[in-house]
Amino acid sequence: MNDLLVMKFGGTSMGSAERIKVAARIAREQRELRPVCLVVSAMSKITDLLLDTMRHAEAGDRAGMEANLAKLRARHLEACRELLPAKGRGAAEEGVRALIAEFERISGGMLMLNELPPRSVDEAVAIGERLSALLITAFLNAEGAPAAAVNAAEVVVTDAVFGNASPLMEPTRARARERLLPHLESGAIPVLTGFNGATADGRPTTLGRGGSDFSASILAAALDASELWIWTDVDGIMTADPRLVPAAAVLPEVTYAEAAELAYNGAKVLHPRTLAPLIDKQIPVWSKNSFAPEKLGTRIVPRIPVSSGARAVTSLAKVALISLEPGSPEISGAHLTARALDALARSNVEVLALSSSSYRQSFCFLVRTEELAHTVQALESALALELAHGYVRPLQVDEQVGLLAVVGEGMRGTPGLAGRIFTAISRENVNIIAIAQGSSELTIAIVVRRDGLEKAVRAVHSECGMGAAALRPGA
Ligand code: ADP
Ligand code: ASP
Ligand code: MG
Repeated sequence: MNDLLVMKFGGTSMGSAERIKVAARIAREQRELRPVCLVVSAMSKITDLLLDTMRHAEAGDRAGMEANLAKLRARHLEACRELLPAKGRGAAEEGVRALIAEFERISGGMLMLNELPPRSVDEAVAIGERLSALLITAFLNAEGAPAAAVNAAEVVVTDAVFGNASPLMEPTRARARERLLPHLESGAIPVLTGFNGATADGRPTTLGRGGSDFSASILAAALDASELWIWTDVDGIMTADPRLVPAAAVLPEVTYAEAAELAYNGAKVLHPRTLAPLIDKQIPVWSKNSFAPEKLGTRIVPRIPVSSGARAVTSLAKVALISLEPGSPEISGAHLTARALDALARSNVEVLALSSSSYRQSFCFLVRTEELAHTVQALESALALELAHGYVRPLQVDEQVGLLAVVGEGMRGTPGLAGRIFTAISRENVNIIAIAQGSSELTIAIVVRRDGLEKAVRAVHSECGMGAAALRPGA
């Protein structure tokens, strides 16, 4: 659709009645200028609360579950009261109660079964987004701006990987047009739930934690939007996580590739898969601060004419390094690597970094801690015979590690940069365990000891002059 603006509001930007009012004001201001479609996250911390409630249910802890349900109800009913006048709030309150009753019914089933079926988890956890979509929609309508809440389970068609589903773009495009264009054509603002979707035959799915950014880009691509604005709680994409590096500065522009590398390597400001749906159509994205909407934020674009050096540093702390080594010369390192990678691919494990030693024919790779148990199981079952006969040594797992990644399109043209980065890390007495191979040319990925990770991030940020460089126009 011509001129369509898709805007996504994250958890903090939807975190209270006051924040929802600001989001609604921004939506109305933009609606004066062009058609607008919203994508919303659950109120901050609500997804964690819902997941925690389900864990109580699985453990048979009814009291814990009910205490959480009371918190869930209180937070949303309070927002409802603060957003809407007493007279006009009946329907919204009823809507909130009905959604929480739906969540209670699903988690009640989990309590009886002592089990968390993945598809029921996805159905239940998306209720956080349905609640926040209901609240902002009711407020927009009360303010005289027609809006309609739409459950993304009716729009975003995905595969059946519960908890980390991928969109099927063709059917999503058809559904998005069918479900959302009538609202847009009538001048209303559709408010889509972020994070969730459903398989073509209607089984509920979610897109992974932080997935509302991805929902927004899926929607922007499906509707041929002219821009996507992602509203969050920092001024844009920064040279480092400002919580770790106080000197971090906002990057006025980054490329799709840089943003994707940063996101994959831990910059929580964007969900890693956000950029993928936008690449073909080259839809520009802005990352903006809903707490300071007057600031420009970061523009994410296909290309930047001049780009130099390292632009940002990011880190992942919850990772583990797995090493594999042949136990006898009868098995080659290449063969072992191939078998292991095949096992990982079949069990949907995401390998974050990979490194090998030709001398020992060994190789090691990094996975998220949450995937560790599943990864070890997949490898041990694929290599069961080799392990039993000693052709492969027992897997070594090191959980005391962290990943640091330095990103910048211009790094390949900056001689001596890698050396300076390694020296800066060593100067802090932080041990470098591995340097990842095979990553793209715009990223240097380094595995260090976990307890030195934050120090290393600050040292690299300062060595590369990132805070200052980001402020230079055209840098
Ligand atoms: P939302 O709820 O809006 O999706 P998130 O909490 O998912 O927001 O992401 C925003 C957070 O990402 C910021 O508060 C910041 O601490 C963190 N962050 C990590 N790395 C970066 C970075 N390079 N630039 C900006 N923010 C970052
Ligand atoms: N509410 C979901 C989460 O916390 C999705 C999101 O916020 O993007 O993971
Ligand atoms: Mg997020």
